[in-house]
Amino acid sequence: MLPSLVFRTLRSADFGCIAKFAWNFGVKGLVSVEKFKSRIKRGEYFPPFLYLSILNSCNLRCQGCWVDVAAERTEIDLETLNRTIREAKAHGNSFFGILGGEPFMHPQLLDVLAEHPDCYFQVFTNGQFITEKVAQRLKELGNATPLISIEGREITSDERRGNKEVLNRTLRGLDHCLKAGLLTGVATSVCQTNIGELLTESWLRELIQRGVHYVWYHTYRPVGPKMNPALALRPEQLVEVRKFVVEMRAKVPIAIIDAYYDHQGQALCPMSQASATTSDRRAASNPVRSSSSPRRTSAIRAGSTWRCATRPSSRISGNSAPARPGAAWSSSAPTWSRSWWSSTGRATRPCAAPPWPSSTP
Ligand code: SF4
Repeated sequence: MLPSLVFRTLRSADFGCIAKFAWNFGVKGLVSVEKFKSRIKRGEYFPPFLYLSILNSCNLRCQGCWVDVAAERTEIDLETLNRTIREAKAHGNSFFGILGGEPFMHPQLLDVLAEHPDCYFQVFTNGQFITEKVAQRLKELGNATPLISIEGREITSDERRGNKEVLNRTLRGLDHCLKAGLLTGVATSVCQTNIGELLTESWLRELIQRGVHYVWYHTYRPVGPKMNPALALRPEQLVEVRKFVVEMRAKVPIAIIDAYYDHQGQALCPMSQASATTSDRRAASNPVRSSSSPRRTSAIRAGSTWRCATRPSSRISGNSAPARPGAAWSSSAPTWSRSWWSSTGRATRPCAAPPWPSSTP
């Protein structure tokens, strides 16, 4: 599947965007991961990638959003954002996830991307503010990939996201990205209402036909001001998601990101990567039970920083996380990028507190 994915991407995406992805994310990302590993050996946990939540506002009102989007609007100012990124770059970082709320409602988002041509950004968005003009600007910059959240087919999507016409407006934004030649992804937070629609081969084939380059499956986690535990997956459904991802990687030419496991089925959590505790080993012997354990699936907000609830005493050294609403937290794992391409990974360990939002922006 990899050759046809590469061929399809080379044919459909802008060369400048591919080049920036390959260099800023691929090559420099690997260097960043090596530096991260060295830091871990020294007992320092500054992450290889940062995810910045840059504002709390959104035009939608999705069920189970992790952000209090109805609260008074706050956003991180341009200077703070630039400083945070510069400080992370000093640690060797080059990849940043940008979250909200809806990041494209931040008036200076494009200025931030322009300020750091030596970095690569993944923007978690509902896609509705990506006009043709915005998509063109993203193409000129070349250093960002929009990750557009789709939470179901038309009816499910409107219900889940609290508005009419949500899917159509999102698809318009998606098409603008693809027409401009951006490397574009679709994210889904799999839950009880959309698992039958979006965890299917036909959905992936539809996305391929549209030109989407990668998909990212999260699973719904009941957090945020209006959490809805009834949407959460049962343990056997979590296993189903993992099996689907592994099977489809070998079957369809689209990159599928599993937010929770690497290519060997190891849990993706920087803290669990740092050292395995006795409780980790115990949990590993019973993946299903522990994957549904609240202890291992929550992230806590500590001041302005997200950190893994499983190890509250872990130190994130040199953390330059900005003031609210920007929670800069660490993703991800040394083997993260390799996990994209696996067709043989098996889940051998539980989800170890993946710090992803319960609902995609
Ligand atoms: S989940 Fe995303 S799109 Fe939905 S309300 Fe929250 S920030 Fe907005």
